[in-house]
Amino acid sequence: MDAFDYVIVGAGSAGSVLTNRLSEDPGTSICVLEAGPKDWHPYIHLPAGFIKTFHMKSINWAYQQEPGPWTGGRSIYAPRGKTLGGSSSINGHIYNRGQRQDFDTWAQLGNRGWGYPDVLPYFKRLERRVGEGEDAYRGRDGNLTVTTMDWQDPLCEAFMAGAMSLGIPKNPDYNGAIQEGVSYAQRTIQNGRRVSAATAFLHPARKRPNVHVHTHAHATNLIFEGKRAVGVRYVRGGKGGAPFEVRANKEVILAGGTYNSPQLLQLSGVGSPDLLASHGIEVRHALPGVGEGLQDHYAPRTVARVKNIKTINELRRGLSLWVEALKWATTRRGLLSLSPTMVYCFWHSGETMESSDLQLTFTPASYKEGVQGQLEDQPGMTVASWQQRPESRGYVRLRSADPFAPPIIQTNYLTAELDRRVIVAGMKLARRLLKSAPLAPYYAYEDFPGPGVESDDEFLAAATQRGTTTFHPGCTCRMGPAYSNWAVVDDQLRVHGLQGLRVIDASIMPRMISANLNASTMMIADKASDLIRGKSAPTG
Ligand SMILES: Cc1cc2nc3c(=O)[nH]c(=O)nc-3n(C[C@H](O)[C@H](O)[C@H](O)COP(=O)(O)OP(=O)(O)OC[C@H]3O[C@@H](n4cnc5c(N)ncnc54)[C@H](O)[C@@H]3O)c2cc1C
Repeated sequence: MDAFDYVIVGAGSAGSVLTNRLSEDPGTSICVLEAGPKDWHPYIHLPAGFIKTFHMKSINWAYQQEPGPWTGGRSIYAPRGKTLGGSSSINGHIYNRGQRQDFDTWAQLGNRGWGYPDVLPYFKRLERRVGEGEDAYRGRDGNLTVTTMDWQDPLCEAFMAGAMSLGIPKNPDYNGAIQEGVSYAQRTIQNGRRVSAATAFLHPARKRPNVHVHTHAHATNLIFEGKRAVGVRYVRGGKGGAPFEVRANKEVILAGGTYNSPQLLQLSGVGSPDLLASHGIEVRHALPGVGEGLQDHYAPRTVARVKNIKTINELRRGLSLWVEALKWATTRRGLLSLSPTMVYCFWHSGETMESSDLQLTFTPASYKEGVQGQLEDQPGMTVASWQQRPESRGYVRLRSADPFAPPIIQTNYLTAELDRRVIVAGMKLARRLLKSAPLAPYYAYEDFPGPGVESDDEFLAAATQRGTTTFHPGCTCRMGPAYSNWAVVDDQLRVHGLQGLRVIDASIMPRMISANLNASTMMIADKASDLIRGKSAPTG
């Protein structure tokens, strides 16, 4: 059996950062197992390729969620990256850290060293910010390039003017001192190409002789000696492929993401005894929190039809698309270099909220059935709105003992009353923004939810009819103290009650943050690398 110091399962956002940092020590050997292929596909690297990779099963787990009590009987699609870079290779490129209070709350839950002053140095160390930002908050020397949207679009300008006309201030840096306000989105795009965790962290690390990355290597369960994890079993080439084992002399690290890390634990006999028994899996270690507590952002998209100007819906067709392709080829700018969302707005659902609890995004485009992935034919603009810190929680549980079967994903969107109230407030604000005076020259009429929707109940019905994930699942292997009945890992990200095993990815978040999750997932991995290596936090 091959043996390495560390075996990392998953080469996604967290796995890529970890591999880079742990391999800085030339005396340390690392094996990375990634179920997907190399990230060679051109659509991964072309920012507008997002719309294609969204459904591309060769590099996407393409999960389906279970219908929930508030999703109108719908099973919501849940894309997840399955390639080097993981979800950062198919995501919407937005760079958004969240609010100071998000991380202070993690610390308050009993996680020492995870408050905002503790995590800020890692956000800074990871990034190379190009553009506005104070040195107190932004890094300039890291691997992850963060730029600001550079496509001047009259609709985006009018949307921002509209927000300001409603009293929402312009914020030069929502990743700085304060998040609230409106501004162009910050993105992980450099010279018209996606900056994934793989391009920023994994590929540079792969040049080191102590890094061994296996693609098409699907981890099927963990190998234990007593309570110590000592290795991983995996299959090469998909279901029915050849089985292999790899040994970890120091640690096994799970970085398979929010859906797959708890699944692998459960397959390996770590989880709720009742669940394991129902699938005939022997209990290695009872840990009822595994897979429980799933949170995600749920967004209905308010759509208006547009007049007097072209939107992206038309620009991506016919001659216009050829012009844009030429522009990208010669200047690396234009439509093909864009993220799916362009303007970000953070605001309050009510006057009593101390910090913004709503996130709204604006795009001069619209999608069929409100689901990203297929643009509409007629001109449209969209405001997606979601509650930043939802209270609803669901779970990820084994569907079967077959490691190739997708897990059961039940997010329980909108089951908490607060979540329903805030989502309605968000939709009302979205309507006001689209109807603001600066957008009037372009605003034709509201297509969804439509002018007939006026009462709170009607807005809520519309939200259940058309809301979708914003692709931010987290919290299924939560970090917390051993005495809690929900925690899976401690504040060093070690699995409670076991040795030689950590989980390091978006699943360890104890509570949803006010942001998209890529930046904070990489921060978690960077901080974890110091915990593993016994290094103190960076200064400055
Ligand atoms: C469509 C989409 C759009 C998004 N947009 C944004 C955005 O604009 N901004 C933002 O901040 N966030 C966005 N996100 C979310 C963000 O990208 C993720 O939260 C983040 O990448 C999660 O990182 P992770 O390391 O936890 O998991 P991932 O990056 O998903 O990595 C997990 C890796 O583990 C591998 N793996 C899983 N199981 C196994 C196994 N059994 N064996 C071997 N390998 C395995 C997977 O193939 C994958 O490569 C988006 C996500 C998606 C899917």
